[in-house]
Amino acid sequence: MAHFPALFAPLDLGFTQLKNRVIMGSMHTGLEEARNGSQKLAHFYSERAKGGVGLIVTGGIAPNFAGRVSPFAQQLSFSWQVKKHRMVTQAVHQEKGAKICLQILHAGRYAYHPLCVSASRLKSPISPFKPWALGTLGIKKTIRDFARCAQLAQKAGYDGVEIMGSEGYLINQFIVPRTNKRNDRYGGEFENRIRLAMEIVHAVREKVGTEFIIIFRLSMLDLVEQGSSWEEVVKLAKMLEQAGVTIINTGIGWHEARIPTIATMVPRAAFSWITQKLKEHVSIPLVTSNRINTPEVANQLIEQDGADLVSMARPFLADPQFMAKAARGESQLINTCIACNQACLDQIFNGKIASCLVNPKACFESQYKREPNASQRKIAVVGAGPAGMAFAIEAAELGHNVVVYERSDQLGGQFNLAKEIPGKEEFVETLRYFAERIKQLKIDLRFNTDVSADELQSKYDDSVIATGVRPRKLALPGIDSASVLSYAQVLSGNYEVGQRVAIIGAGGIGFDVAEYLLHPHGKAGESEDNKTAYYAQWGIDTTYQNRGAIRDKVARVPAREITLLQRKTTKPGKNLGKTTGWIHRQSLKQYGVKMLGGVSYEKIDQQGLHILIDEKSQVLKVDNIIICAGQESQTDLYHALKAQNCMAHIIGGASVAREIDAQKAIEEGVRLAHQLSADKVQT
Ligand code: NAP
Ligand code: SF4
Repeated sequence: MAHFPALFAPLDLGFTQLKNRVIMGSMHTGLEEARNGSQKLAHFYSERAKGGVGLIVTGGIAPNFAGRVSPFAQQLSFSWQVKKHRMVTQAVHQEKGAKICLQILHAGRYAYHPLCVSASRLKSPISPFKPWALGTLGIKKTIRDFARCAQLAQKAGYDGVEIMGSEGYLINQFIVPRTNKRNDRYGGEFENRIRLAMEIVHAVREKVGTEFIIIFRLSMLDLVEQGSSWEEVVKLAKMLEQAGVTIINTGIGWHEARIPTIATMVPRAAFSWITQKLKEHVSIPLVTSNRINTPEVANQLIEQDGADLVSMARPFLADPQFMAKAARGESQLINTCIACNQACLDQIFNGKIASCLVNPKACFESQYKREPNASQRKIAVVGAGPAGMAFAIEAAELGHNVVVYERSDQLGGQFNLAKEIPGKEEFVETLRYFAERIKQLKIDLRFNTDVSADELQSKYDDSVIATGVRPRKLALPGIDSASVLSYAQVLSGNYEVGQRVAIIGAGGIGFDVAEYLLHPHGKAGESEDNKTAYYAQWGIDTTYQNRGAIRDKVARVPAREITLLQRKTTKPGKNLGKTTGWIHRQSLKQYGVKMLGGVSYEKIDQQGLHILIDEKSQVLKVDNIIICAGQESQTDLYHALKAQNCMAHIIGGASVAREIDAQKAIEEGVRLAHQLSADKVQT
């Protein structure tokens, strides 16, 4: 029986055919600017093409200097640049039927340099640089640069280009009144504001001829004030079709919009309704996107005629074999993107090469070479949390004989707590993936089993200690009172928590516990209730009566009164993820959570928590005090092994509790497996 028939149906574009309905969406990886970047990109994309994706869209490439996202970002304007792109297209085309388009992205006022340009001289709230307003000559040159870039892309062997017209970049800046205050032919009325977009499309089509894919990424929901109206979106889509665009892709939300659109708390397929709404107005294929991460959801969208194609980007970082596994009906073996942004977008925004929390080999493919002659070792893993599981799976794949000991009755360690947090339910997918891979690789996993150093020493060549962390206990008078709970106790769901709560520690877990205590659990996935609550919380106008499709946020009623405390005087939650921290902070603010910094903790008694701020004592009259003050490593076993001169390795939180996070834990596990296989993992 064919699996996911809608998803695997070819799509005829007239002059060419896409082998299935899945596009790997544009994603900047940082390899573009890396040393030997073209080679690495070729490797990266060819892995995804091998995995069966129908069409790949590259990360954004600028058509000229002003359009570069940053001064050292990639640009395609000159013939001598074609050669390195050819390396990428040739690698992809080696896979039968695989296609690749180059995305042309002009950043406009989002460019991170002083030579940035826009429709008008208005600084964006997320950039320090005030753009120069393009004059008529500058506009004409920009149009020529787009056309030249497309022509060079064609020369380099790309099957087409995607013109980036959404997310608040240059073309989008011209389209909407928010950023276009011009009073010439390119500003004012709608017909003038879309002139740049239309002239770019015409110029590109003229240069590349009729048998070349042009995708236009159209901002269907700007999610900012003075964005496009629905009528304008429809009108523009129709004009793009007439101008010879092959496919329209869905763009959701400007980068400066304060509405999460791809983070994990966004319900799956939360924006597909807008693509479907456009379907009756155009006849060219439409792509839907944002928070689609399983073949089931993707197939359903195509089947129900919500879109002709589905774009997924991060899911192909998480699993290059996504499509191949779907084709074999092995969804349960897909390593699902959990939309955490931690190892991909956060890394990029920190100027590093992207990877993936659940698949640290992403973008580093060429560094994890398998050693065919690796001698098989008998390896014990102690602890079935993220680090231990990642190691066990990778080591078994590399041919080792692995036995895992786990003290509790379940695998996953800290992930079992994370999955309880509203908006983080996707973590359950990683637990499922671990469990399925363990089964597939026939790894001997022993639950409810403590193992001694003597046993490890006598039976195994190597022992990998991944015993994780325990919550830090504070030395505070009254800490043993019944009102004090650890975060692990709270998230276990086995303890009653009162109406008034103080949380000690405003790190990642403090924020998560606050979110957990504030409202009843949401459900993972694409349930309608979950989507309705999300639209209401973030003020998304699904009736599209207002420009930009925004409306007032619906006030949130907290289930509890919460105070979040820290000793530092810096902004609470300052160290949360770069691209998601603001969402957590805003969410707690919407619930009226009180945040206090510069706190000294004095004691806990029947009155509550006694604290000192600015040398003034106060009592927080609370029912419960929850300790989210970090963790300590569990290292006893490791030290016992070392004392016996055993071959022992320590990874994850057991190694360094201070900086424990899942990304680091999984990466350490995978890396160690390769090191023990005598593979060369370059740094
Ligand atoms: P964390 O982020 O380091 O936060 C620990 C908190 O405890 C800090 O607010 C710290 O602030 C306080 N603290 C530390 N020692 C203390 C002491 N002796 N007495 C009182 N307070 C103390 O650790 P975490 O919240 O346990 O998170 C663990 C790891 O998971 C982190 O690496 C984090 O990045 C990651 N994580 C991230 C997220 C996310 O980004 N959304 C969510 C969950 C977990 P003061 O020292 O100022 O008091
Ligand atoms: Fe998805 Fe997180 Fe991996 Fe990024 S790091 S691809 S969001 S799982």
